[in-house]
Amino acid sequence: MSKYYPPTLLRKLRNDIPIDSVILQLLNLEVKNTHHLLRFRCPLCSSFHTATNHQTNLARCFDCKKNFNPIDLVIAVGKFGFIEAVEFLTMNSSF
Ligand SMILES: [Zn+2]
Repeated sequence: MSKYYPPTLLRKLRNDIPIDSVILQLLNLEVKNTHHLLRFRCPLCSSFHTATNHQTNLARCFDCKKNFNPIDLVIAVGKFGFIEAVEFLTMNSSF
């Protein structure tokens, strides 16, 4: 059942798809823009106590104390497992 993905592809998905576009365009998460900070509804606890970090390309929920890379975030939304999340991001990215 395991499927092989080259580490370079996984790294690209984690680093090269801007976390903001994953939240806004790919997942259509509910967001609040406050003082130019993107706050999204955490898919795990529904809190807006969240932020994105463009340096690390991670989304963080301060209530869950969890960081999400693009793959984690797609999985956390709940429709996909790891393989489906990788396919979804690959399909929806421009490389
Ligand atoms: Zn949370």
